[in-house]
Amino acid sequence: MIFRQLFEPVSCTYTYVVASRRGGEALIIDPVLERVDSYIELFDRLDLRLVKAVDTHVHADHVTGLGALRDRTKCITVMGRESSVDTVSMRVADGETIDIEGVWLDVIHTPGHTDDSYSFLLADRVFTGDTLLIRGTGRTDFQNGSSSDSYDSIFNKLLTLPDETLVYPGHDYKGETVSTIAEERAFNPRLQVSSKAEYADIMDNLGLANPKMMDVAVPANVAIGMAQTGDGDDWGLTVDQARARIDNPDVILIDLREDTERLKNGVIPGSLHVPYIDLEDQLQPSGVLNQLVHSSDKHLVFYCAYGERSALAVRTARDSGLRDTVHIMGGIDAWKKAGAPLEE
Ligand code: FE
Repeated sequence: MIFRQLFEPVSCTYTYVVASRRGGEALIIDPVLERVDSYIELFDRLDLRLVKAVDTHVHADHVTGLGALRDRTKCITVMGRESSVDTVSMRVADGETIDIEGVWLDVIHTPGHTDDSYSFLLADRVFTGDTLLIRGTGRTDFQNGSSSDSYDSIFNKLLTLPDETLVYPGHDYKGETVSTIAEERAFNPRLQVSSKAEYADIMDNLGLANPKMMDVAVPANVAIGMAQTGDGDDWGLTVDQARARIDNPDVILIDLREDTERLKNGVIPGSLHVPYIDLEDQLQPSGVLNQLVHSSDKHLVFYCAYGERSALAVRTARDSGLRDTVHIMGGIDAWKKAGAPLEE
């Protein structure tokens, strides 16, 4: 496995890169905007293809690199279902997994620092974001934070992991890099409490100033979605426009989501399944989909969860010469909200 812990010194943020092999797919956790060039350089050097960029929560102390990485690599952006961001490509919930080639993260909802805070378990290690820090815990006094939720997330979820599980936090301000569940249980001063009330009393009286970047970072971090339709160029269909169009025999409707998303939310009747990660190969001039479109004179209509993967797919298709390609804006989310038909 390839595993890198990267540091951004202004906000003391840790960013993690994981891949199963050189030349394979990679994911990144909590990228920082100012470091995006260096991440891309790392991916190039290790011959990695970034396919997923994940934030543990909406950050208040730095601007996320999710949007910039998506724009530069066409990766899938991932956050928890509670996050107040306008759009990400994929949302996850407790008990689900985030998969790439040879790597899967177990998704654990750990609210408290914020209501959208998640931790991700990768075999022998857990990425705890700002929920559990080394000898500390994330503040709970803004962004719908809750000391009571923080206590439950730490004591009833993270501390139930095996003792030797490595703890990789979202920040460290003293130069610590890694700990374990057993060490934090024994030595984290905030966890030496006998009740939730005692923990809440500590957390509710920290008296911290707001992060310096907060007024800039939070608005930037909740507005990371990309444009889903071009100016004067109608490559984005509303749900109504899509419904009028997809029964047409010259249309190939393609679902870009993953199996778990299809199972959870249903599919639009009559659609083919091509996971977004596999799409680029199929759209190459030698690819199956490209050849199908050219030989049958059909048009592609893409959809996904929220319209972001499908908007990226339109760009890729048009770059490959498939000019008539469009997508459904807002994805299955908009489709469902409009009450349009779905099948299991
Ligand atoms: Fe945070």
